[in-house]
Amino acid sequence: MTPFRVRWLGRVPYDEAWDLQQQLFLGSADHLLLLEHPAVYTMGVRAREEHLLKPSSELGADLRRVNRGGDVTFHGPGQLVGYPVMTVPGRRGGGMADTVAFVSTIEQILIDTLADLGLVGERMAGMPGVWLDPGTPTERKIAAVGVRLGRTRSMHGFALNVDVDQRWFDQIIPCGLVGKAVTSLAAEGFDLSMQQVVDLVAEHAARLLAPGRMIERQDVAWRQSPTDLSPFSRGEGAGEVIKPERGTRVRLESRRSAAGVSGGLDAGARKPDWMRVKLETGPELLRLKKLSRSLQLTTVCEEAGCPNIFECWNEGTATFMLLGNRCTRACGFCLIDTRKPSTVDHGEPERIAEAVATMGLSFAVLTMVARDDLEDGGAGIVARTVEAIHDRSPGVGVEVLISDLKGSADALQIVGNARPEILNHNIETVARLQRAVRPSAGYARSLGVLCRAKQAGLTTKSGLIVGMGETFDEVVGALADLAAIGVDIVTIGQYLRPTTNHLAVHRWWSPDEFEQLKHIGEHELGIAHVESSPLTRSSHHAGSAAAGVLSNRVH
Ligand code: SF4
Repeated sequence: MTPFRVRWLGRVPYDEAWDLQQQLFLGSADHLLLLEHPAVYTMGVRAREEHLLKPSSELGADLRRVNRGGDVTFHGPGQLVGYPVMTVPGRRGGGMADTVAFVSTIEQILIDTLADLGLVGERMAGMPGVWLDPGTPTERKIAAVGVRLGRTRSMHGFALNVDVDQRWFDQIIPCGLVGKAVTSLAAEGFDLSMQQVVDLVAEHAARLLAPGRMIERQDVAWRQSPTDLSPFSRGEGAGEVIKPERGTRVRLESRRSAAGVSGGLDAGARKPDWMRVKLETGPELLRLKKLSRSLQLTTVCEEAGCPNIFECWNEGTATFMLLGNRCTRACGFCLIDTRKPSTVDHGEPERIAEAVATMGLSFAVLTMVARDDLEDGGAGIVARTVEAIHDRSPGVGVEVLISDLKGSADALQIVGNARPEILNHNIETVARLQRAVRPSAGYARSLGVLCRAKQAGLTTKSGLIVGMGETFDEVVGALADLAAIGVDIVTIGQYLRPTTNHLAVHRWWSPDEFEQLKHIGEHELGIAHVESSPLTRSSHHAGSAAAGVLSNRVH
């Protein structure tokens, strides 16, 4: 039996969680997503407009109409939302999932959680959810339940009020129940952290939704304090020998230690033999380097000093950096310059298309820095470059390795409409290390980008860098999440530290471990192609991997 995967995802915008649910719903893996939403009102299929007590423009929060049962409800900070996206255990006639039994099970999870706290939660006939003192003048609702069941799969779920600002409920008739009060654990006198409640709920959910199964849980790191929000946590300049008093460097590592990672290899630690490569050169490579310079192009292959350049360029694949070489973010593993980005070069798409044609490439990878300073995050330039290459060199495959475009579905659609052969977006690391490694990005957001690309009919790809403090099982869990949302290609490579201002290497993963991950990814999790080795990089063997997967998709 496959593991039951529990994921604490932190604060996730409703639309991103929705797209993630939709994609998981289409699969066969069983997940319980636990998260908080920024303030949003949702209206189920039976919702009545009059249960909104204000015009939507005056609610001060988003409003979403969704395909779950029930009426209008509120989600927001201080409320634990749980989405069991799974194959529902109980069956009724015709093999259909038993909705009543499933809703009752979800209510039981919450009732047992409240019992751990000494609270008596109860059901009320015809009013899904969990109540305190039902049928008395002080009856009040502490948790809402609303699910959607397909033939056997479930989505949506429950919302347990922990420490939510209850004034949000004053703008609606919660769940369409006139005169029914709403409460929370805080209003009942409990001073609990979200983490404490998640631990209780996860335990009862595992027991009731997945009895006897292996539970595989991963959490994004819990915020230590409201202040640890600054994304810029990496020192400026080339970096030098580590000095503990160096503030910024310490903040980078403090996040990682807050995520439970201690130690790491010294900057000067000797690399194992399998990490040592003889940089090959040759007339073809030199010709191509000369050409890219003459066309004023930045190839990641050269910028990052990639050890695979000889192999890739001889394979007819090269990676071009779009939108300049200054990023609006500062991931802990990346060498990129983080000074103020340059203005957008609108001639870049045509120039790259020219280079691809002149270099005679069969496959081009377009990567980009994060341009959070641009309205569309840079999506327009990416799309125009894909189109320019397709126009100039029909038959040449294009992979775009994009940032999360600030989670914008519209920006992603701009790229999707250009129909790149491969849409690549790296999750980079496991849930627990996201905040330490890529503080401006997020696990759920990145999965959301890949889900939307899949929903747009694109072939998707993602990548992981190991050696920053993650465990083998965590990497397998991340692979399972990528497989569950239909990602076609995954790359896994060893982290190499660019400067002393970057995260220390935690350990060297062995070639055997990379082999095992490839086997698990392809043969146990069903990912079409896993490129996994110490020297693998996102674009390594990009052309051949794409060709293999795309040809299988056609047949
Ligand atoms: S967003 Fe991309 S380019 Fe920018 S720092 Fe992170 S990994 Fe590097």
